[in-house]
Formats: sequence, structure tokens, C-alpha cells
Amino acid sequence: MAKTRLKIGIVGGGIGGLAAANALHGSGHEVTVFEQSKQYLRVGADINLTPNAVRALDGLGAGIAAAVRASAARPTHRISRTWDSGEETSRLTMGDEAERQYGAPQLTIHRADLLAALADAFPADQVQFAKRVSHIAQTEAGVSVEFADGSRFDGLDALIGSDGIHSVVRSALYGAESPRFTGVVAFRAVVPTERVRDVPDIAAFTKWWGPTSDSQIVTFPLNQGRDTFIFATTAQESWHEESWTTEGSVAELRGFYASFHPHARALLEACDSVLKTALYERDPLPHWSQGRVSLLGDASHPMMPFMAQGAGMAIEDAVVLARNLDAAQSAADVPQALQNYEAMRKERTSQIQIGSRGNNWLRAGGNADWVYGYDAWKVPLAAKAEAQVS
Ligand SMILES: Cc1cc2nc3c(=O)[nH]c(=O)nc-3n(C[C@H](O)[C@H](O)[C@H](O)COP(=O)(O)OP(=O)(O)OC[C@H]3O[C@@H](n4cnc5c(N)ncnc54)[C@H](O)[C@@H]3O)c2cc1C
Repeated sequence: MAKTRLKIGIVGGGIGGLAAANALHGSGHEVTVFEQSKQYLRVGADINLTPNAVRALDGLGAGIAAAVRASAARPTHRISRTWDSGEETSRLTMGDEAERQYGAPQLTIHRADLLAALADAFPADQVQFAKRVSHIAQTEAGVSVEFADGSRFDGLDALIGSDGIHSVVRSALYGAESPRFTGVVAFRAVVPTERVRDVPDIAAFTKWWGPTSDSQIVTFPLNQGRDTFIFATTAQESWHEESWTTEGSVAELRGFYASFHPHARALLEACDSVLKTALYERDPLPHWSQGRVSLLGDASHPMMPFMAQGAGMAIEDAVVLARNLDAAQSAADVPQALQNYEAMRKERTSQIQIGSRGNNWLRAGGNADWVYGYDAWKVPLAAKAEAQVS
């Protein structure tokens, strides 16, 4: 239980925001989540939770751990293959073996099911929907938030921006600067596993490494293995629309990977429809906390999906943030607690942001322990980090 009950606002009820809300509420803080959507929608598709992310989630409560396991799939292995020959270049055993080694398995889950598990565990009357944050201000009296509908919320001891890649809170702290289109687009499709049953290792997480680093197909089970998720990326010169609901063309998808191995092509042949999104990223921030305001998840370190760590880093952030705020003796300690949180998270998230951009992770073997073995609940709290001079 926390030493002092803080009044904490969280901007954005996505994966990271709701993980933080649960962690902070669980320690007895007064938490309010401000979410721009009118309600939670079943948008998106996959979230890949490697053992480090599952261990962080499990500590949020038995209800969340059980709900996640009720809908997730448990990939048997993590396999790398070469796009044309199909040659296997690395294989890690996941499932029970990962659970023994890291204390948690890898789980793959529909984003909406993960969101529902987190939302159901948090008091519904502490989430304010249709509240799009437009401005924030810090005074001696605390942090104030203004919303696009003209309303406001005052007197917060801390405000956490978990408002995703286009974070308004980040812009308020460090100035507006748009994320960069990476020149890579991604196709996402879900097919019944029955249709692709003959593809070898269909219960595994398999990455087919393409002829260039922009080009790959990743596949893994979803919905307890009833469905198979397919994620494919390719280079594209420009992109004009950013959305998680844009339909892509199945014919275009198949065309891009026509020279891939027949087993990879069989996955694409099974698709009826596909979503298409662009991949955006930013460089690591030198700092992400100022006074009583800090950032979390994609708001602070949006990354390419190639290490499958976007959601995992947001959930780890949430746990480490809550542990640091719990250590505050009074509201006056919040700025220092946020500096300590940032100090504990910056090196790891920056390393994974840069590693994801490089897109070489586990291509030809390698040790996954530094990513999968991290325990957000046990990593020692930082000694006093220096406050940022803004
Ligand atoms: C609708 C949606 C679908 C997605 N689908 C997938 C997917 O299929 N696969 C995948 O790998 N990743 C997906 N992602 C991204 C993925 O969830 C994140 O990369 C990762 O989980 C990190 O989570 P986050 O909490 O930092 O950000 P997010 O999960 O993006 O959450 C940010 C939240 O902040 C809210 N928000 C934004 N601006 C404001 C504001 N000004 N005021 C109030 N609220 C605000 C957003 O509505 C959202 O709920 C999706 C994200 C969204 C928003």
C-alpha cells in the first residue's frame, strides 16, 4: 500500500494507461482516466505479450491474469525462417519452457481482449470518456487539464500522458513534433486456423525474414489458437491516412510476397480481408518528465513492431511508475518520484526502440534474456535521479 494517497490523472485509456490505472488504484491512489473515445471499441487485432510483459501484467491482479489467459493463445516456439528457402535460422521454445525460465509464458491476444481485461478490473466510474485533452498547466496548486469540450479538471498531484504516438501531453512538455513515417506499411489479417492447419509450426510465433529489412511476414496463434494472425510489412513511398481501421487489398498483399516460400504464401492465400496501416516512429526522448507530469508507453517511446515490445514496454512502464509513486512520502515528492521512474526506464526503452528499428532481433539466434527476463516488479528502485532543469 502507498505511503500517501495521491490524486493522479491519466490521459489515455489504452493498454499503458489502463495498466498504470490498475497499478496505482491497487496501491490506494485516487486515479481518474481521461479517454478521448466515447467508449472502448473492438479495434485493432493483435498484441504480442512476451514473458516480461506477461509477468508485469500478472502482478496487476489475479483477475487480469485469468482474463488474459482466458482468451490469449500460447505460442509453442519463436521461430525465424528465410523468406524463399524456408530455412530455419533460429528457434526458441516458449510455452511451459519460457514459463519455467522467465516466470511467465508468451501470450498473444486480440488488443480488444487485453483492453477489456484491464478495463474490467478498474472502477468504471473513474474513467471519463469523450474527454480529449487539449491543454495542461502546472501551478503550485497542482496540475490542471483542459479538454476539447471546454471542461477542465484541476488539483492533480500527478498527470501521466499515456495518450499514444500523437501524445498531446508530450507536445505540451516538449513542443509539437510529428512522428516520422518510416516508409514501411503493415498488413494485418486474422484467419481461422483450420484453413492453414497444414502450414508447419502453425502454433508457433514464426517470422519469415524477407529479402530486405522492410519486408517480412510474421504469424502467430490468436484466440486460444482458433485463429491465426498474419502481419506483413513492405516498403511504400508515402502514406496519407493514419488509422487502425483502413481496409487493404488482399490481392496487393499476395502480390508483394509472391516470391516467398509456399508455406508463407499459403497463409496469405487464406486471407479474406486485411487491414493496412503505416508504421510511424520517433527517436528516443532525452527526458520525459517535467515537474508533476510524465509520459508512458507510445507517448514517450513509440517504436517499430519488430521486437514485439510496444505494449510490453508500456505495461512495464506502468508498473515501474506505480512503484516509484508508491514510494513518495507526500505529494511534494511527486516530481522526484517521476524523475526516478524515468531514470529507471529510459535506457531500456531507448535500447529496445533502437533495436526495433534495426530489425535483427533473434534473426539468427541470440540470447533473449535481457528482454524477456526483466521483472518490472522486482527491478531495484533507482537512487535519487537528478531533476530535469526545463
Ligand atoms: C485503436 C487502436 C488500435 C490498435 N491496434 C493495434 C494492433 O492491432 N496491433 C498493435 O500492435 N498495436 C495496436 N495499437 C497500438 C498499441 O496499442 C500500442 O502501440 C501499445 O499497446 C502501447 O500502448 P499505449 O497505451 O502507449 O498507446 P495506445 O494503446 O495507442 O493508447 C493511447 C490511448 O490514448 C487515447 N488518446 C490519445 N490522445 C488523447 C487525448 N488527447 N486525450 C485523451 N485520450 C487520448 C487513445 O484514444 C488511446 O486510447 C493500437 C492502438 C490503438 C489506439
